[in-house]
Amino acid sequence: MRFAPILLLALALLTAGCAGTGTDTADDGIPENPNTNARGLDRKNLDESVSPCEDFYRYANGSWMDRNPIPADQSTWGIGNEMQERNYFLLRSILDDASDAGAAKGTNKQKVGDFWRMAMDTDTIEKQGLEPLQADLDRVAAAASADDILAIITDWHREGASVLFGFAIFQDLMDTTQYIGYAVQGGLGLPDRDYYTRDDDESAALRDKYRNHVARMLTMTGSDEAEAGAEADAIMALETRLAEASLTNVEMRNPATYYNIQPVDHANAQTPRFNWSRYLEAMDLGELETFSYAHPKFFAEMNSALGDTDLDTWKAYLRWHLIDGFAPYLSDAFVQANFDWTKELSGAEELRPRWKRAIDQTSGSLGEALGEVYVERAFPPATKQKADEMIENLRASIRSRIEQLDWMTDETRSQALTKLESFVSKIGYPDEWRDYSPLTIGTDSYVANVRAATAFEAKRNRDKIGQPIDRNEWGMAPQVINAYYNPVMTEIVFPAAIMQPPFFDGGMDDAVNYGAMGAVIGHEFMHGFDDQGSRFDADGNMKNWWSDADRAAFEERTARLVAQYNGMEALEGLNVDGQLTLGENIGDLAGVTMAYYALQKALEGENPGEIDGFTPEQRFFLAWAQSWRRNYRDEALKLQVNTDVHSPSMFRTNGPLANMPEFAAAFGCKDGDAMVLAADQRADIW
Ligand SMILES: [Zn+2]
Repeated sequence: MRFAPILLLALALLTAGCAGTGTDTADDGIPENPNTNARGLDRKNLDESVSPCEDFYRYANGSWMDRNPIPADQSTWGIGNEMQERNYFLLRSILDDASDAGAAKGTNKQKVGDFWRMAMDTDTIEKQGLEPLQADLDRVAAAASADDILAIITDWHREGASVLFGFAIFQDLMDTTQYIGYAVQGGLGLPDRDYYTRDDDESAALRDKYRNHVARMLTMTGSDEAEAGAEADAIMALETRLAEASLTNVEMRNPATYYNIQPVDHANAQTPRFNWSRYLEAMDLGELETFSYAHPKFFAEMNSALGDTDLDTWKAYLRWHLIDGFAPYLSDAFVQANFDWTKELSGAEELRPRWKRAIDQTSGSLGEALGEVYVERAFPPATKQKADEMIENLRASIRSRIEQLDWMTDETRSQALTKLESFVSKIGYPDEWRDYSPLTIGTDSYVANVRAATAFEAKRNRDKIGQPIDRNEWGMAPQVINAYYNPVMTEIVFPAAIMQPPFFDGGMDDAVNYGAMGAVIGHEFMHGFDDQGSRFDADGNMKNWWSDADRAAFEERTARLVAQYNGMEALEGLNVDGQLTLGENIGDLAGVTMAYYALQKALEGENPGEIDGFTPEQRFFLAWAQSWRRNYRDEALKLQVNTDVHSPSMFRTNGPLANMPEFAAAFGCKDGDAMVLAADQRADIW
């Protein structure tokens, strides 16, 4: 019952599961502001017992890493969490204020306030138990045919829950002036398909734990123990079938795997047991004559499963996914059971305090309603001005690098420059705020509010069909500490929350801000020129604008990066997947390179020389490394390496720098040092 928007390439400062933090008081106590006061560059974070040329990540962050153990309720701890910590206190004061009553019914303030209050009202949540889902449980229990099962799935899809498969509305990848529908693979309960197919002992043990968790949740919703065990086995078998027919996450890196436009009749013929016309009609999308039938192999297996899986298994499958989707909003028994499972993946030892979970959910469900107040309090106009200036300096530095690339022909080069000029940037918050007036948030239950908000989003997306492209739309709320590149819009987006210390520090010199925030701006720009983004042209259409020779030269260079990252060992026997992480690694290498040259340009205006014993170039690279500081639990590191397109922080830091002679020069590193790759291994891409 979850749904990731396709093809938004985010920075992911907050990676691998939980995006929360630790230092606080008891659940319902008034928290104290931890006042982190972290700066963009801090000499006391260094470990000067390590040479910068041997392990720059450790050199720049070692002391910070030693001083900042991971809080018990966290799976990792890094700069994003430090920033999030401050955010939580600000958001909490906004929410407390909104829920203090008096807000007129139907206003954003009332909606945000009631949502927050219901999320915090554990008395009501405990008293209600499973009641908020009883109608759904009864309906599943009463299902008497495959048609009943499909009707339930369809109704849940209308509410925005992607049970069994996903259906998204997104711009047409080959004609970005219109919105179309995408039917995509899904239906799994483990993080991705490889979790079902890996044959090592550890993966098998994890599958056992998952199966036991499914059984536990089923006993909590009516099955006796023997029934629940059999149901969990059958669910596992069904999900494994779906997984085996799914594409891997490496295959999904190719955007073309999302694109297979077919007439509705064709899809109907492929899946005789699933009628797409009826489904689309029920989704108020009956006018669609075609859609992207993205994953035919998956849907063929889904069709077979609809035919040969017994009704009781489908009923158990739906009950399991219903409870799995809503467990975080139910009574403590469900919250705890859900946490007992997710901690197997994240390694976190304790559940995060309710008020932080509630803030995350309010922010996730009512992002811009909350964001509107957030930016008034947290986003000074001067920050936007500085970001604009940095973005244009980055664009100029990218332009001049592309003009000088020796491996690219003039024809492709001119296309690349056209694309660069067409990039639009969005900073801080939307010009026009999302209209929440059709959404009702009340005081029935926490579950009902989460559902209403999800259904509102799903309908808002469906209503885009036939409408002009909304270029003002944001894919992240302003209070989210992240950034993204959207290839079909040719846009880079920086929410207000990322532009705060220590990531962006108005009180520090350019070298520091270019090393952190500037490199992120470069990273997002250069996603437009990575293995994925480079398949989209200046108008955002998935169209080849490369000559064959240039594409071959590009891939020869990126293959070096794949080989480098394949060789990085995160845990014993667990290496980074150079192919899965390629786009992010290209973004990192190119981003920090472009930011370095943008800084050089800025230094022509004003060069402060050495500060605190470091040259501007040294401060630039130190700020880069410190912006990636993070401690990981082993479980979290494993989850990230297995599922995340972002390499773990130590490799994101050191990997690009080892390719940069500019880095070696700044710290006097020599050939043969660990931080200096030999010329024939170095990836010189953008
Ligand atoms: Zn990225």
